[in-house]
Amino acid sequence: MAGNDPGQTPRQRPRCPICGAPQLAAFRPFCSARCADVDLNRWLSGVYAIPAVEEDEPSGAGPGDPARVKPN
Ligand SMILES: [Zn+2]
Repeated sequence: MAGNDPGQTPRQRPRCPICGAPQLAAFRPFCSARCADVDLNRWLSGVYAIPAVEEDEPSGAGPGDPARVKPN
């Protein structure tokens, strides 16, 4: 059976996790700058679970605390 396609490599190329297109070396692990940007936006918008750490401010701080000077 001579069904070998000259344009196909035996090893499967890794694919872009965003759109599934073959990765481009310049944008690994994505296929383009746009997909890299999409992934970044997912991070920034909190799609990925990020443990929220809330600052807790002590409500009894003295007025002359040098470690807690607010620029307001
Ligand atoms: Zn992509």
